[in-house]
Amino acid sequence: MTDSNCPFCILNDRVLKENKQARAFLSNPRKVPGHFLVVPKRHIEKPWELTTEELQDIFELVFFIEQRLVDKLGQGADIRQNYRPYLKQGRIKVDHVHFHVYPRYKDDYLEQVSEKYETDLFTDLDPEENDDFSRMLNDD
Ligand SMILES: [Zn+2]
Repeated sequence: MTDSNCPFCILNDRVLKENKQARAFLSNPRKVPGHFLVVPKRHIEKPWELTTEELQDIFELVFFIEQRLVDKLGQGADIRQNYRPYLKQGRIKVDHVHFHVYPRYKDDYLEQVSEKYETDLFTDLDPEENDDFSRMLNDD
């Protein structure tokens, strides 16, 4: 199950590590050097539709890469997955589930150009908000 219009389905020579259900490669374009993407081999758009086997193989690669990045390059790493169907597929948005894994350092480029501004977004959790989301997750 691949999609010939999907850049993650047709990449072959760029795969740097793979297992039965997933593959890892460097993101192009990338945010920072060492910005990896880990994808299921099957073309799928919604992360909650991944099988248990796909999840296991994806996270095996995600944490393998995270550990290597921390051991060999940096002080930390970020893991990220976005689901934004309201955006059109393009060079920086691909409709094939993928997990970003990239190295982080104290005061690194990402911190300097964007994340320092995100600190102001944090606010204390309101108990009512906690109850609302609890109901959302637990009611049918
Ligand atoms: Zn695909």
